[in-house]
Amino acid sequence: MSEPEFAKAGYLPWQQPQKERLQLQIAADRLPHALLFSGIKDIGKKNFAFALGAQLLCSHPDSGNACNQCSSCHLVNAGTHPDLRLVHPEDSRLIVIEQIRHLTEWVVQTAQQGGRKVSILYPAEQMNIQSANALLKCLEEPGADTFLILVTDQPGRLLPTVRSRCQRIEFQVPSEEEAIPWLQSRTDSGADISSLLAMAAGAPLKVVNQFDEDYLSRRARIVGEIDGLIMGKVTAVSAAASLLSKDYPVEIYDALYGFFADALRTSLCSTNNTLINKDLETFINLICSNFDRTAMLLFIECVNMSRRAISGSSNPNSQLLLESLLIKLAELADGREE
Ligand SMILES: [Zn+2]
Repeated sequence: MSEPEFAKAGYLPWQQPQKERLQLQIAADRLPHALLFSGIKDIGKKNFAFALGAQLLCSHPDSGNACNQCSSCHLVNAGTHPDLRLVHPEDSRLIVIEQIRHLTEWVVQTAQQGGRKVSILYPAEQMNIQSANALLKCLEEPGADTFLILVTDQPGRLLPTVRSRCQRIEFQVPSEEEAIPWLQSRTDSGADISSLLAMAAGAPLKVVNQFDEDYLSRRARIVGEIDGLIMGKVTAVSAAASLLSKDYPVEIYDALYGFFADALRTSLCSTNNTLINKDLETFINLICSNFDRTAMLLFIECVNMSRRAISGSSNPNSQLLLESLLIKLAELADGREE
């Protein structure tokens, strides 16, 4: 979603507890100037930040919602409100110190529309140490009627001094009862929303943003290559090349994680109603019969390491990274490891 779409989306149905908590503080004129929104990826934290920002800037908010009618709302929805400042990685994966310096200058200026000012900073964990240190001053002495909202999936990666200066609001994965009707209202295809939501570990925005109508066929291709690798029909190098020619590395790693987490769950308990890939029973059983639990755990850890490397700031060679992961998988399947 683009930024104006975030603003128009408003608060999501499962965010009522967090919304109510902040509305009480707004009504009492006690909303903290620095807020930290945390929780797993793709459950709508950024939507919430935009909804709150729009509400704080709106001239006539109603029941805690921006009116979507006033001139301020029009500017927010067009992405051009001068008193709404977004800070996110631009030329690199990091939020760099120049961006925080500009924010610091902006914070002390008078609001152009004469009301409040709101800055939304995401993903906050992408600040490097210099940026985070530069932000501390802003967090300590924000201007009057200025609100800084930090959004993060990984609060543990923020400086403790940054965390301690913000009021933390934690967001949880919505229940199926909350998420499925919302997803149904957004998708018109006959997709199996319940299965897609399970694959997204319950994160509804992941279903919307990543699981397009071709997702299941992409996943089937990953299953095919891994099946071939386990059965010794393809090599790790050719499987990696074939997958990377058509799929995003992060999606491949997420799928591999899901397959092995499911296999581990299946090997640990007889009922498998908690599986992510409920529809892949035969494939999950193939993994179970070729890997013991130690090998599964080891491979899951390797997937996590590769996933972190590809999402980090070091720009690894994605072909080499996936090849070495799949070589590891083939070794573990052959029982050649240690
Ligand atoms: Zn308005």
